[in-house]
Amino acid sequence: MTLPRFRPRGWVAATKAAQRRHQAEAAGGPRGPAPRSQRAALYVHWPYCEKRCSYCNFNKYIPRGVDEAAVRSCLVTEAQTLLRLSGVRRVESVFFGGGTPSLASPHTVAAVLEAVAQATHLPTDAEVTLEANPTSSPGTRLAAFGTAGVNRLSIGLQSLDDAELRLLGRTHSASDALRTLAEARHLFPGRVSVDLMLGLPAQQVGPWLGQLQELLRHCDDHISLYQLSLERGTALFAQVHQGALPAPDPELAAEMYQKGRAVLQEAGFRQYEVSNFARKGALSTHNWNYWQCGQYLGVGPGAHGRFLPQGTRGHTREARIQTLEPDNWMKEVKLFGHGTRKRVPLGELELLEEVLAMGLRTDLGITHQHWEEFEPQLTLWDVFGTSKEVKELLEQGLLLLDHRGLRCSWEGLAVLDSLLLTLLPQLQEAWQQRTRALVPGG
Ligand code: SF4
Repeated sequence: MTLPRFRPRGWVAATKAAQRRHQAEAAGGPRGPAPRSQRAALYVHWPYCEKRCSYCNFNKYIPRGVDEAAVRSCLVTEAQTLLRLSGVRRVESVFFGGGTPSLASPHTVAAVLEAVAQATHLPTDAEVTLEANPTSSPGTRLAAFGTAGVNRLSIGLQSLDDAELRLLGRTHSASDALRTLAEARHLFPGRVSVDLMLGLPAQQVGPWLGQLQELLRHCDDHISLYQLSLERGTALFAQVHQGALPAPDPELAAEMYQKGRAVLQEAGFRQYEVSNFARKGALSTHNWNYWQCGQYLGVGPGAHGRFLPQGTRGHTREARIQTLEPDNWMKEVKLFGHGTRKRVPLGELELLEEVLAMGLRTDLGITHQHWEEFEPQLTLWDVFGTSKEVKELLEQGLLLLDHRGLRCSWEGLAVLDSLLLTLLPQLQEAWQQRTRALVPGG
């Protein structure tokens, strides 16, 4: 296959030019790190796939043909617009997700990165991840993505069992997945992540653990374990609903997860998030930004973002959702420079709820310093320190609240959703009490 022509390392040249600009600016006096409101991660959504997987309810389309030049131009335009509207001066990571972004041409990836580097500061060592499907990612193509500026791959491997892959409607076999993984590791050593699913219909614990052990013989330093979620409207949901397949067993899935995380820990992986495991420090900095409630811009059909629009009075961060359907999204981008369908201002309490729910997904949890960045008036001790319910969770060893902050224990991380059922109302109550105290006569 002939790869489309693209400017090699275009974005690196643009990055160097931007760095020279920043050095020139810095000559006028010392500059501190950009404030939180001027830093962001960037997510770029490629909405197209070759085929519909049986479990998938993501925003994806199976087109007859794609006018890639038009999509590319719209992705570039929207990235430029959102960077301008946000006033973001430094993009710390870029993630090309989908859909199947490995179906896009490397030229498109290079064009987006170049536009970002021209509009803002994109450090040359910024993490740039591309999600890759084994069937659309031969080594030559992966190498071309590397030349375009990608420096990390996330491979949708999902299973090492051909029957399971067929059940999931994937287009690749286990041997395709292992070949892609080997090529990816050769090209991006230490920077390849793989996804493995668990909790499939009729899946048993022992064979699944066997797959995980097999994967450990081939994988790099990052693994994500995802439990299958049976979504209404998918082919798999219909098959289970009609009795053609057994419903996934949540208890077996929980056992797979518990045993899987123990196996990974034994193999030297740190479980740094509910579903994510890394060794040798190979954490995903892009996803870490989500869990830290950092700002992010979402470009492409149906992409989500969360940022403080430039010039906004007060500190109201907005949730932005782009138009879902690619043709409509393109029409809007051509007309308005962006395809934002919905803007929802996030209240202070809402943002704190996100800080809590996202932060507790990580092994570090929420440090006092991190919490204070969002809420200097109400400390973690104020919110959780005197609660009887929280005390019980601490005594059960599910939660820790100490000089470092609030975090889940190893046991607690596996039941985070149930912990949040206690913690979120606690936060809401503390917030209301504080608000009442601030009202004169309240
Ligand atoms: S490749 Fe990914 S986005 Fe596309 S249909 Fe399959 S699961 Fe969905």
